[in-house]
This record gives sequence, structure tokens and C-alpha cells, in this order.
Amino acid sequence: MLKKQSLKTIKSISTYRNWHKKNQGVIGFVPTMGSLHDGHLSLIKKSKKQCDLTVVSIFVNPAQFSPSEDLDSYPRDLESDRLLLKNLNVDVLFLPNKGLLYPKNYSTYVEEKLLSRGLEGEARPTFFKGVATIVVKLFNIIKPNFAYFGEKDIQQLKVIKKTVRDLNIDTQIVKGGTIREKNGLAMSSRNQYLSKKNLKELGIIYESLNCAKTLILNGGRTGTLIKKVVKEKLKNIKGLEIDYIEINCSETLKKLEIVDRDVVVSLAVLINGVRLIDNLEIKI
Ligand code: AMP
Repeated sequence: MLKKQSLKTIKSISTYRNWHKKNQGVIGFVPTMGSLHDGHLSLIKKSKKQCDLTVVSIFVNPAQFSPSEDLDSYPRDLESDRLLLKNLNVDVLFLPNKGLLYPKNYSTYVEEKLLSRGLEGEARPTFFKGVATIVVKLFNIIKPNFAYFGEKDIQQLKVIKKTVRDLNIDTQIVKGGTIREKNGLAMSSRNQYLSKKNLKELGIIYESLNCAKTLILNGGRTGTLIKKVVKEKLKNIKGLEIDYIEINCSETLKKLEIVDRDVVVSLAVLINGVRLIDNLEIKI
């Protein structure tokens, strides 16, 4: 068994840069907003396998929340997060505060303008600007060779890949599959807001995506029909509101009315004030 090392927590950029100078090797980086669950841990394990050193950041990024969203109430559990990171032998926890990353008069933002347009970008107009900005800032500090992102947030993964390509950033983006609860509900820090009843019944979200998959693989190729099938399934949950159900080209995220190529079926729902997203890629 691997001996547990102590987890080095770094809160300043200069301390990180000193550590980086002293520690040679391939660096894997997993940016997170904390409240870690098995979805995050699967990305960290990937990095541990592929890289010499693994850095995880925890930062609840204000730039990606709109004023009406849950920045203040976003779940935070640093002690439990530290323990999980220590158990995985993570080398560094980078734990900046808001003032370090967004000092007074901060005024520089990164905006990807193609893949950010629909889906989450439409529902949350400033979200990807905030995400791209923080990711580029963190990459400039951490200088990772590899960075790990989850397919659970498929549009985010694609926006970051595109940003890295467009800005010639020397970091390879690695994707990790969506980790789910036993009933299929995608793990998310926001699941903590859900009641036991909701947690149990919301496996239906993944079921609805799988219904779309079955339909498509059996020749159902019209968007309206596919969305109807997903909607019918979701109707079984009392109090659930659908924000969107969309079918997009897997590669370009272009909206499709007819499934004539590999697609990703994505959805966002609201239940008792909690917004959840999920998606399933379907190769035809
Ligand atoms: P967050 O802390 O929500 O910003 O997520 C940090 C990273 O973990 C992002 O790359 C997410 O896509 C990824 N992630 C979140 N939930 C899951 C999940 N259920 N399975 C795989 N990756 C996930």
C-alpha cells in the first residue's frame, strides 16, 4: 500500500511557483469548486495514473455565477475535501481566495464565442466567460501538462478544449466519464441540496436519456419525437421543471432537428429550486 504523504496546501501564487520550481515532473491538474464527490475523485485518480504530480484546486469562482445564482449557498466542506485529497495522495491543494484571483479593479476576461452559445450558455449567459477566465488564470499559475474535466459538463469540456486550442495554451485537456449514483443520477455537489425522496426518484433523468438513446438506435431520428419521449419520462417526477432538452452534434454542439450523426442529448431541470444538468452521447 502507498504511504500517505501529507497534503501540501498552497494559498499564494508565489508559494506555488516556488514549489513548481523545486518539483520536476509531469503535472496533472484537476480544477474544482470543492465539496468533492466520486466524480471529482475519478478525475484525480486519472491524473495520479498519468502524471508524476497531481494538483487539485478548490475555488468557488464568483465570475461564473450570476447574481441570482447560488454563490453564497454553494456547498463548501473543506475538511472533508482535504481528507479525500490526502487519501488519494494528491501532491498539492491549491486554495486561493477571491482577492488573490480577482483583486480590486480586475478587468480582464476570456470569452469563447462559438461553443459557448447554446445550452448552458443560453440559460446562463455569463457562465462560460467566468469558466474560461478562471481556467486560463489557473493554468497560468499551475502550468499543468494535463488538465482533467468531466463529461458531466460536456459543453464546459468542449469550451475549455477550444479555448486552450485558440489561445495556444500548452496544456492537454483530458476528459473523464460521468460518475453516477447507483440509480443513474449524475453525481454533483448540488445533489446535497436534494431531499432523500428526490435523490431516489431522480434516477429517472438518466433513464430518460437512455430512452432517447434506445429510440435513436432504433431509427427514431426526429428531434421533436426524441425530446417528447424524454419529456414524457421526466413528467413522472412531481415538481420537476424542464429548463431545456436539446440534441446537438457531438463534435460542434450545433443544434440538430434530425439526428444524422453522433449526437449529445443534454438537459437541464429544476427541482425544488435545484438546477441539475446531464447528458448522454449517442453514436449512431
Ligand atoms: P465542479 O466542482 O462542479 O466545478 O467540477 C469540477 C470538475 O469535476 C469538472 O471538470 C466537472 O465536469 C467534473 N465533474 C463534476 N461532476 C462529475 C461527475 N459526476 N462525473 C465526472 N466528472 C464530474
